[in-house]
Amino acid sequence: MGNDTLHNVYTIERNKTLGRHVMATEKLGVGESILLEQPILIAASNNEIRCVNCFKLTESHCEKISKQKKILHNFWKQNHILSNVEIPSFGENISKIYEPIIKSGFAKYLRFASIINKDFLQLLCALIDVNAFEIRAPDGNPMKGLYVQGALLSHDCVANTVISIDNSYRMKIYASQEIEPGQITNCYINVLLGTRERRRILWESKYFHCNCLRCNDPTELNSHISSLLCSKCQGRTLSGYLVENVDAGNYQCLVCCHQKPTNEVNEYLKFMQTKILEVQDNINQLEKLLSRLSMALHPRHYLIVDVKQNIASLLRSVINDTTQCPGISVYERTIELCQSILQVLKLILPGVSRLKAITLYELASTQAEYRRLLYQKKVIDKTKLREYLQEAEKTLRESIRMLLYEPKATPEASTAVEGKLRTLGLVSRKTLKADEDAEGIRVMENSEAIVIATSNIPDSLL
Ligand SMILES: [Zn+2]
Ligand SMILES: [Zn+2]
Ligand SMILES: [Zn+2]
Repeated sequence: MGNDTLHNVYTIERNKTLGRHVMATEKLGVGESILLEQPILIAASNNEIRCVNCFKLTESHCEKISKQKKILHNFWKQNHILSNVEIPSFGENISKIYEPIIKSGFAKYLRFASIINKDFLQLLCALIDVNAFEIRAPDGNPMKGLYVQGALLSHDCVANTVISIDNSYRMKIYASQEIEPGQITNCYINVLLGTRERRRILWESKYFHCNCLRCNDPTELNSHISSLLCSKCQGRTLSGYLVENVDAGNYQCLVCCHQKPTNEVNEYLKFMQTKILEVQDNINQLEKLLSRLSMALHPRHYLIVDVKQNIASLLRSVINDTTQCPGISVYERTIELCQSILQVLKLILPGVSRLKAITLYELASTQAEYRRLLYQKKVIDKTKLREYLQEAEKTLRESIRMLLYEPKATPEASTAVEGKLRTLGLVSRKTLKADEDAEGIRVMENSEAIVIATSNIPDSLL
């Protein structure tokens, strides 16, 4: 696929701990583009067969495709069997897999065709699996994309870049915060998990033990995303939290030193996770679980955040459903939930973040709709409404500032640009020239920026 645009701001280095990794050669500003890259390979996820041309789920493929693509299609058709095989048991299954792949003619197209054998094939597939990024198929389901340069960034649970992949599968990596000359990192994993979970997933899928700053800090950068309430001292004069002591195999209170064995904590979390899954579409049941969890876990614990995200998204769909007339309390609860989720995100995701931007966007739209409802019900007057909308606009501005760095053709960017923002009467769009960029919003090449003008709040809204 080729056509990579490599920005001259980094070098690739190698050492024993990190292997090959990427280093910034100069200071990079927030939002600065580091890499634009097309994948060298796109493959269906495990258990799926997709057309190699249009990526639809099908055993066949588009009619007019090159001979090379036909061969690749046959390869993946065979290879999907292989993706279902666990690496350790690959050995026993190799003959079932090797012959069909060789028969597909795929090997002829490899530069190293002369050395292809069963071991090599196994290594090749393992490399694809470990290094591939999750990308979205046209139906929204995940596929795998292999990006040669993108895969070189080492992992950190608090990364200094954001990776986004647009509708034509082009990867863009940009700085999420200022980067001094030194390591450029990417986070391979969901940041809204505790250290124990993140380390387990990284070990099982990427085969390494994370030793980043966040993983080595029992409070996880003061987010306390894995901490428990101390049953001994909470609610009394002291208010301690238990954090994990990996070496001692227990959780210890930071104030009164009360202890709980790690096994016991893990079992409780596992049990509650199953409970959450059982009621995930039921707002009332989720609220009940939330109160239960709040008796045992730190208010920013990842299970609490998970349930809050779940409830907020269910409430948003109630608000968005035009056939329902949600009461004021639905808006109030959504606002409250978005605010508390943001508190956690601000601690563990410094700088620009898509997740933060989307949560801010949800918060701003709910706030604006809520105030309009209050105005309609004559709870607030026109002046108050204008004041509140300005407040929502500020939040929206913060969200859009982050989404501006996203490639134009990603769903998140179109959410901001094409979304219902204009229907809220809060934004107008115009193309900005760089010198009009008074707020320091970096205007991306040929992209349209969003200008929010409070003075533009249409009278129809008032
Ligand atoms: Zn097709
Ligand atoms: Zn880590
Ligand atoms: Zn305590």
